Amino acid sequence: MVARAARATDLADLDGAVSDCFACPRLVAWREEVARTKRAAFRDQEYWGRPVPGLGTSDARIGILGLAPAAHGGNRTGRIFTGDRSGDVLFAALHRAGLANQPTSVAADDGLALRDTRIFAAVRCAPPDNKPTPAERDTCAPWLHREVALIRPTLRVVVALGAFAWAAWWPTLREVYGVRPPSPRPAFGHGAHWSGTTAPALLGCYHVSQQNTFTGRLTPGMLDDVFARAKQLAGVD
Ligand code: SF4
Repeated sequence: MVARAARATDLADLDGAVSDCFACPRLVAWREEVARTKRAAFRDQEYWGRPVPGLGTSDARIGILGLAPAAHGGNRTGRIFTGDRSGDVLFAALHRAGLANQPTSVAADDGLALRDTRIFAAVRCAPPDNKPTPAERDTCAPWLHREVALIRPTLRVVVALGAFAWAAWWPTLREVYGVRPPSPRPAFGHGAHWSGTTAPALLGCYHVSQQNTFTGRLTPGMLDDVFARAKQLAGVD
């Protein structure tokens, strides 16, 4: 798997290869079980039930790093943050920021297109309770590293959605950029900002989970501020 990720020549090749990954037995079993049993509201749909690749442009200046696909969102539709409440909040914000051509993301063929932006997850398969193990995170890391390496020429800023994504960035810094992560690691927080000289800046943002958006911990205005900052750091108009 590590070798296959490293061999990917472009994003299309990487997306195809990751979709065929079976490296984590617990996650493979879970993604397939969810796809079999389904949620009642989606009982007539065919679930994707496989790893979910990244989404967006190959010349992205802004990266958005999430945790992992949702069981009935990305794991159902085959596209990251697509078909669930988290995606509703995220894509509405990206549309307001001028980084997406539409405010909704409901199905893989709905016409959504991103501008200057690529979205990817630290772990590519839906985990039980949205909680991958550290071993699963490490097993999946080569896919993230290769994806970042492929967009490295343009990538200027990464928005980490939540503490898990924030923590997953530091090994990427070392693997892709050859930069030793700061010690101690900067703490995650909403609006936290780290910048190096030869690597993209890192911005912290509370995750767009229902737990955060329904309780008002993360508001549309807070997301707008983060994406405005990301655009400024990335030099996107
Ligand atoms: S989580 Fe990542 S490494 Fe594990 S099976 Fe899914 S794609 Fe493969």
